[in-house]
Amino acid sequence: MNNAWDDRKKALENEFFHKKEKEALEKMKQEAIATASLGHCPKCGTVLEPITFHGVPLDQCPDCGGVWLGPKDLKVLAAKDHRSWFGRWFDRESENTN
Ligand SMILES: [Zn+2]
Repeated sequence: MNNAWDDRKKALENEFFHKKEKEALEKMKQEAIATASLGHCPKCGTVLEPITFHGVPLDQCPDCGGVWLGPKDLKVLAAKDHRSWFGRWFDRESENTN
């Protein structure tokens, strides 16, 4: 009887610690995501360096060279690129028609 109870107790303990471990892992994952949004490279964890690309502020990882865009940065970059691309295209078009 004693052994069976001990086994049951151990099993419950294992379950408890397994659950705790899972919770801790989940917390670590959440923290990793939070860290990434706080200026750390999501790929290698290196602190990102702010750079300016075509007047758009971006974050670049000095370790792996990855460039990370925030939703706002992407919008700004798209708007800028769009305009210059269109500008060049229209300039060429008007040159051709003239
Ligand atoms: Zn990196």
